[in-house]
Amino acid sequence: MMYSQEVKTKLMAIAGPENVDDSKAGRLVYSYDATPNFQSMPDAVVAPRNTKEVSEIVKVCSEHQVPIVPRGSGTNLCAGTCPTEGGIVLLFKHMNQILEIDEENLTVTVQPGVVTLDMIHAVEKIGLFYPPDPSSMKISTIAGNINENSGGLRGLKYGVTRDYVLALEIVLPNGDIIKTGGKLAKDVAGYDLTRLFVGSEGTLGVITEATLKLIPMPETKQTMLALYQDLEAAARSVSKIIANKIIPTTLEFLDQPTLKVVEDFAQIGLPTDVQAVLLIEQDGPAEVVARDMEKMAEVCKSEMAISVQVAQTEIEADALRTARRSALSALARLKPTTILEDATVPRSEIAKMVRAINEIAVKHNVNICTFGHAGDGNLHPTCLTDARDHEEMERVEEAFAEIFAKAIDLGGTITGEHGVGVMKAPYLEWKLGAEGINAMKAIKHSFDPKNIMNPGKMFAKESRKRMVISK
Ligand SMILES: Cc1cc2nc3c(=O)[nH]c(=O)nc-3n(C[C@H](O)[C@H](O)[C@H](O)COP(=O)(O)OP(=O)(O)OC[C@H]3O[C@@H](n4cnc5c(N)ncnc54)[C@H](O)[C@@H]3O)c2cc1C
Repeated sequence: MMYSQEVKTKLMAIAGPENVDDSKAGRLVYSYDATPNFQSMPDAVVAPRNTKEVSEIVKVCSEHQVPIVPRGSGTNLCAGTCPTEGGIVLLFKHMNQILEIDEENLTVTVQPGVVTLDMIHAVEKIGLFYPPDPSSMKISTIAGNINENSGGLRGLKYGVTRDYVLALEIVLPNGDIIKTGGKLAKDVAGYDLTRLFVGSEGTLGVITEATLKLIPMPETKQTMLALYQDLEAAARSVSKIIANKIIPTTLEFLDQPTLKVVEDFAQIGLPTDVQAVLLIEQDGPAEVVARDMEKMAEVCKSEMAISVQVAQTEIEADALRTARRSALSALARLKPTTILEDATVPRSEIAKMVRAINEIAVKHNVNICTFGHAGDGNLHPTCLTDARDHEEMERVEEAFAEIFAKAIDLGGTITGEHGVGVMKAPYLEWKLGAEGINAMKAIKHSFDPKNIMNPGKMFAKESRKRMVISK
């Protein structure tokens, strides 16, 4: 696998010399992403201007076996855009347009580099709604969301990115351009390639255009905060709300250490003397929202919530949402290294998982705060540490390995929304078994026999696998 002067000349002829950067400074910027500890230099950074250029670039890389790392905003948390095997980083800064909002079919068609929140704002202006709202949406891109199958605060009721992808334009690893799906409510023509590419982490091809489903904007919304002195009572409330046949838009959990840090960061008057809070939202017709909020407040109180407060204004509600969304950024201020995971369990097992995370943290003497999408069973145990302290990092890795094992043991998974990347590749086999890994490798091989698309991601190298598993 080699980048060379010949490759550079060909890439410059396709994308223009100003869009091929192999200077040390230029490469350094794209040598890391939001994941600590996997920094690695690419050979060059290339920014195509359209699909045809992407196709030609991919053909050159295929011919010369140069790895391609497609990159949105680099906010992924699984080292999914660290160029661990060198090659080119493919940037979509020129391909960032909203191409069409179709009000008859309720769709929006975008280029890969569109920032998620820009698109959400554009459709909301005309009364339409795109529900997937990762906390990083101010900077994340749509192609990044699609490739990680990202979720957000509204996932419990509305689902995740996968549920909104209707059609894709894809450049395959041999340079062929294909189109999958359409502006269609129904389409069973052949294998569902659209779904296959959602969550594929840039390992199967390059997405150059996407058509996404929109829905009408809900009529009203209400937000409330339930406070608990008992962590497990909060977790129990989550399952009990759903068992009462209410699906709220949002059902988020924050433990006390997270609350303290978030309040310090956001300064909105969050209570810091309680063990946990649930942030709960419902949207829809006014009478349904009022009824559900009342019922959920009753459930929380029956599970020993010490107080249930409903936000009185949209400004107050928005402050609560923003505070929750800032949890990771707030925690990241405390220590040099923040490692955030997203072990996920069936929601009925949330209480057990929260307890296990706390016990594992004590056992390995590491500092773990937990928050997350409790209604989805998707927790974010977040370790505050220092990558320079190798002895502590070993304990952190052991603690997370136990957390993953516990999640699987409870019928869960190693990642609910952040993807596998390099970071969780050694653990994928725990979830899928050797046969599952073989099936996925067969898919990868049939699309990308030369292994040029984001190599080293998803499937663990034996060396790292041994390192993690032997512990
Ligand atoms: C503060 C913070 C909060 C976060 N909150 C959430 C959250 O609430 N929910 C959640 O799910 N995630 C969250 N994340 C993780 C991250 O933001 C998401 O995974 C997001 O979708 C990544 O988007 P991106 O544009 O940064 O993509 P990148 O990180 O650049 O890339 C992500 C993956 O997509 C691939 N890719 C990018 N563009 C293309 C393309 N055109 N074709 C093929 N492959 C491509 C990359 O190779 C990589 O594998 C958070 C991260 C941070 C830092």
